[in-house]
Amino acid sequence: MSNVSAAPDLDFWEFVNCGICHLEFVKENGTLSTVPFWLTECGHVVCNSHINPDHSCSECGGQGVQLMPLARELEPPMSQWFASAPTAFDAVGYALRFQMNMMANLLRYFRKKYIQYRPLYDRLKEEHAETKRLKKLVDELKLENQQLRQHLHINNGDERTLHSNKRRRVDEDVSYAGHRTSSPRSTASVPTPHGPDRLTLPPGHHPPHFNSRQSIQTYDSAGSQQSIA
Ligand SMILES: [Zn+2]
Ligand SMILES: [Zn+2]
Repeated sequence: MSNVSAAPDLDFWEFVNCGICHLEFVKENGTLSTVPFWLTECGHVVCNSHINPDHSCSECGGQGVQLMPLARELEPPMSQWFASAPTAFDAVGYALRFQMNMMANLLRYFRKKYIQYRPLYDRLKEEHAETKRLKKLVDELKLENQQLRQHLHINNGDERTLHSNKRRRVDEDVSYAGHRTSSPRSTASVPTPHGPDRLTLPPGHHPPHFNSRQSIQTYDSAGSQQSIA
C-alpha cells in the first residue's frame, strides 16, 4: 500500500479526447493536437470536425449550447475539471489542515483565558448579586426616608413651635453670654425685645391706640389670637 502514494500523479490532459472520434487533445509526444478542440457548456469535449453548425452538442444532443476553445489554461471552474484529482485532494487536505490549525490555536487561546478568568467571573457574579441586593435596600430606605419626611411635614406646626421655642432659648443664652463678654455686637442686641413677646397681648387686654391700619398689620404679622374688633 505504501508504494501507492509513491506513484506519479496522473496528468489528466493525457486522456482528454473528442467524445465522438476519440482524437487525442495532447499527442503522445506531449504537443497539442493541430485540430482545434471545443469544450461545451454541457461539459463535453469535441474536436473541430464534430461541432454542429446548429449549436447542438454532438455528444449529448443538447440544444443551443455555448462553446469555448479548449486550452491547457482555463478559467475556473472549468480548469478544475482537468486538474489532477489526487493533487486537488492534497490541496483540499492542506487547506483543511491550515484552517483547523488556525481555529485550534484560537480555541486553545480562549480556553486558556476561560480557565484563567473563571474564578474572577464567579466572584464578579456574586458581587453583582450583592450590589443588586444593596441597591434594592437603598431604594427601600430612600422610600422610608421620604415617608418619614412627609410625616414630619404633616406635623410641621408642632415642629415649628418646638423650633421657635428652642431658638428663643438659644437667643436668651446668647444675650446672657453678651453680658458677660460685653462684646459691642452682643450688647447691642440685649436691649432689643423679642418681636412676638411685645406684640402678643395676654387674653382680656385691649390693644393700645395706634391708627387702625398699623394696628391691623401688627396683629396680622404677630399672629396673635386677639380679636381686632
Ligand atoms: Zn471528433
Ligand atoms: Zn453535451
